[in-house]
Formats: sequence, structure tokens, C-alpha cells
Amino acid sequence: MNSEDVQAIKALVSKPKRIAIVPHKNPDGDAIGSSLGLWHYLKSIGQEVRVIVPNDYPRFLKWMPGTNEVLNFEKDHIAAVEYLNASDLCFTLDFNHLGRVGQMTPILEGLGATFIMIDHHQAPDNYAEITYSDSKMSSTSEMVYNFISSLGDANKISSEIADCLYSGIVTDTGSFKYSSTTSKTHQVVADLINKGASSFEIQNKIFDTNTPDRLKLLSCALKNMVILKNYNTAYTILSQEELDTHNYRKGDTEGFVNYGLTIQNIRFAVIFIENKEEGIIKISFRSEGNFSVNEFARNHFHGGGHTNAAGGRSDNNMEVTIKQFEALLENYKEQLTR
Ligand code: 5GP
Ligand code: MN
Repeated sequence: MNSEDVQAIKALVSKPKRIAIVPHKNPDGDAIGSSLGLWHYLKSIGQEVRVIVPNDYPRFLKWMPGTNEVLNFEKDHIAAVEYLNASDLCFTLDFNHLGRVGQMTPILEGLGATFIMIDHHQAPDNYAEITYSDSKMSSTSEMVYNFISSLGDANKISSEIADCLYSGIVTDTGSFKYSSTTSKTHQVVADLINKGASSFEIQNKIFDTNTPDRLKLLSCALKNMVILKNYNTAYTILSQEELDTHNYRKGDTEGFVNYGLTIQNIRFAVIFIENKEEGIIKISFRSEGNFSVNEFARNHFHGGGHTNAAGGRSDNNMEVTIKQFEALLENYKEQLTR
């Protein structure tokens, strides 16, 4: 963060304010970890503050300290709207354009609050008074650590804050494996452990909570996998029926898309997940190397994200969506195979 922004934020939080913290729709570990980490910090310096999520998040994140105080815009609608409308400051975390909060978008667009964006996605929109955006960062949670440190408050990072930020970093880096993980990331994580983050317990709570149903759903996704050798691409699908058969719960398909990338020479992996209720196919894209799934998702599937991890959707049925996808690959053959 540049020193001008630091000074501006210091001035903003020098007096008690009413603050809202909003992560993106379908919040993941980084969205929730960064939001709750910032929430604990702002509370500790005497602010009135609430985290407001656009919709529900997976059960494997619901142990995080502060989770019971989170307002859900869908479930606690009236309280959430009231709180937002009366807020002075609104932190938006882990997303780069207001469309990413789904049904909350018009409310945020109408707020009189001062906006502060903290985010690591490429090409941020220009809606915030203060934009702390850095696409080289492993995670928004690492940025919240930097944010608190820039304000001179690293010593105020409690074990609760450390647990939340560690969770966000460990999930967004695939347990410190993805190319966004830097030596600085490891230094931040080391400091979080020194400040009380319980790394073993956190990883256990997030990653070792499989149900038999989830594992069987994974076997379904693996069985459905199609490998297109000519394009170094692997994709898989899950139909609504398959999700229902395995009592799908939010978060159950997290990480499934990554299996395709573990195959030798595969550089592009995709999962298509049918959502009958919303009438869409939700898509996750992953890549290794220079092939930008951010561009691919933006250009063809109403989405976006990072170079190597992005999401999007299709409003067509599964069959049509897959045909479209396969036809598109020819245009990228050079990039995918060179
Ligand atoms: P996932 O595939 O795990 O849902 O998302 C991967 C990355 O893409 C995350 O950084 C997420 O924020 C972003 N992403 C997921 N879905 C969408 C979408 O519909 N639109 C945009 N712009 N980004 C998305
Ligand atoms: Mn993130």
C-alpha cells in the first residue's frame, strides 16, 4: 500500500465509525478468512464493524472465530440492508468489481459510504476511494496482513486474527503450492504461526472434513473426466442428478477441478457443474503456465479471476455448453500446446 493511502486510512479509522466488510458471492476460504481477520482487527481498535456475506459459505469454514456474528444478506436480509445503509465505511474484500456480490450489487452501488477495496484479482474496477489491489499477492488474506502492518499495528494481530488469515492463505495457495506463493507469503505465514495460528488444527478443520457422500461425488467427477490430449486439456462434469444422489452441500465440489491438472502434460482443467435452481452451469477453470483462464472465462463464460484460476457460468444446458467449450479449444490450440 502506498503511504498516501496509509495516511488516508489512518485518518478514516482515527475516530469510531460504522464499518461493513463485504466479500464476494459464494465466499471461499480467502474471502471469509480475510473478512473475519479484518473484522477482529477493526473491532480491537474500537470500531463498530460487521461482516456481511452475499450468501452462505461452506461448513468447513464455519469454525472460524467470529463466524457466528456474520450477517448473511440472503438469510438476515433486513438486518444486513439496515446495517449497510447506515455504514460510513465499506471494505470490499477478494473481488474486483461490484457485480461479484450478486443480489447485493444495487445496494452497494447506492451506498453513501467510503469504499476501500482490498483484492488480488487482475484489472480492478475503479469504484473505491481507496484501492489496494495487487494481482501478484497469493491471497487477500496476505494483503490484510500487510494492511494491518502498514498501519503500524502488526503487534495487534491476535491468535484469532492469525487463525483467520492463515486459513485464507492456506486455501488460496493450495497449501502453499501454487505459483502465487512467494517467500514473503511464507514469512507472513511464519509470523502468523508465531502469533498463535494453529496450523495443524486449521488444515485439519478445513481439509479433513470429508463425508462419504463427498468422496463418492469426487469419484463421480473422476469417472466423468474427459481428456483431450490434442489440447492438453481435461474437463469433467457433474449433473444436478449426480449432486442430488450424493446429498450435495455447499463446498462439496471445492478442489475437484484441480485433479485434471495433476495429469502429466495437462495444462488446462475445467469442471462444469449443473445448477438447476439458478438455471446455469457453474464453471471452474484452472491452468498451469501462461494460458490465462481469466481471459478465457471473461471472453466466453461471463466470468474472470486470476491467470491460473477463474470461474464463470453458462446459461445453456450442459450438452450445448460442452459443445461450445470443445469448439473454442481449437482457437487456443497453439497456446495450449506450445
Ligand atoms: P472458483 O473456480 O474456485 O469458484 O474460483 C476461482 C477464482 O475465480 C476465484 O478467484 C474467484 O474469485 C474467481 N471467480 C469464480 N467465479 C467467478 C465469476 O463468476 N466471475 C468472476 N469475475 N470471477 C469468478
Ligand atoms: Mn482470493
